[in-house]
Amino acid sequence: MPCAAVASPPRLAIVVPCFNEEQVLPLSSDLFLQKLNALIASGKVSPTSQILFVDDGSSDRTWELIAALAQTDHSGGLRLTRNFGHQNALLAGLMSARLTFDVTISADADGQDDIDAMDRFLDDYVAGSDVVYGVRSSRKRDTVIKRMTAQTFYRLLGAMGVKTIYNHADYRLMSKKALDILEQYQESNLFLRGIVPLVGLRTSSVEYVRNERLAGESKYPLSKMLALAINGVTSFSSKPLRFITVLGMVVSVVSLAAIIWVLVAYLLGSTIQGWTSTTLAIFFMGGIQVFALGVIGEYVAKVFDEVKHRPRFTIGEATQGVTAATDDVHLGA
Ligand code: UDP
Ligand code: MG
Repeated sequence: MPCAAVASPPRLAIVVPCFNEEQVLPLSSDLFLQKLNALIASGKVSPTSQILFVDDGSSDRTWELIAALAQTDHSGGLRLTRNFGHQNALLAGLMSARLTFDVTISADADGQDDIDAMDRFLDDYVAGSDVVYGVRSSRKRDTVIKRMTAQTFYRLLGAMGVKTIYNHADYRLMSKKALDILEQYQESNLFLRGIVPLVGLRTSSVEYVRNERLAGESKYPLSKMLALAINGVTSFSSKPLRFITVLGMVVSVVSLAAIIWVLVAYLLGSTIQGWTSTTLAIFFMGGIQVFALGVIGEYVAKVFDEVKHRPRFTIGEATQGVTAATDDVHLGA
């Protein structure tokens, strides 16, 4: 520790995406600031460190709050031109922080992530890790539905061959070096939990307990979680397409057996009944076909999205002293 203090401490940016968080921001920003001040006082991070709030197109007073915070020490703000979604808002913050800071920690605005884990994140960074994952030690405080959907999500991702860190959301430390590599990943369909492990470098994990939201409502309703899950799978794995091929083969083999059975029945002269089996076959095949088309459609849509190369975020405003990034890769720069 004294060693880190001597070798001029790193400039830290705590990146906090905020979407309609007027209820929780006054509480959580206070906690973040206290934490940052403590980190500065203990010499773990440089006095020029900052909390970077990213307003993801909020329709409430979130930006006013951020702008007011930015008048005080150690806070800055970026305002996206509209709501781009959590992942893109986070990316906007990280890509901007990369330009002037040595290391970043991303955290949710709602104070759910235990800020005291940041000390351990930084210890690991000093010890040489470029990526430190915050991993939840238990899900006891989640609702049953959240816990079940989250677990299904991780299992599904695993089964589809997507490498993610179990029980890790987006509470993590990334060094500038890791962010420079992340910047080269061009895909529009951003799922950071899937991409960050692809960056490589030295990584480690820190366990923490996730609390309840300090205030306000979750901005991740079931529909958004489902979208994130489908995105997570289809952006990283073509296994669902393979699954369809195999399913098609299995159904074909079964059909072949059925054809033989039908022929035999015909030859034996007992063919009048059969309404049930015919109807069942129609429903079964209909279901499989629509499902298969849906999966293929997901991938076609993905290609469509990627081909357009639209910027993943656009920053409309930055508070004084904050450098805003543009999504260069997507603009062909
Ligand atoms: N968020 C965002 N844009 C969105 C939705 C959410 O920036 O479109 C932010 C939100 O303000 C919070 C973080 O993403 O800081 C995580 O959202 P939330 O806490 O609502 O998700 P949960 O913890 O319920 O999964
Ligand atoms: Mg939350």
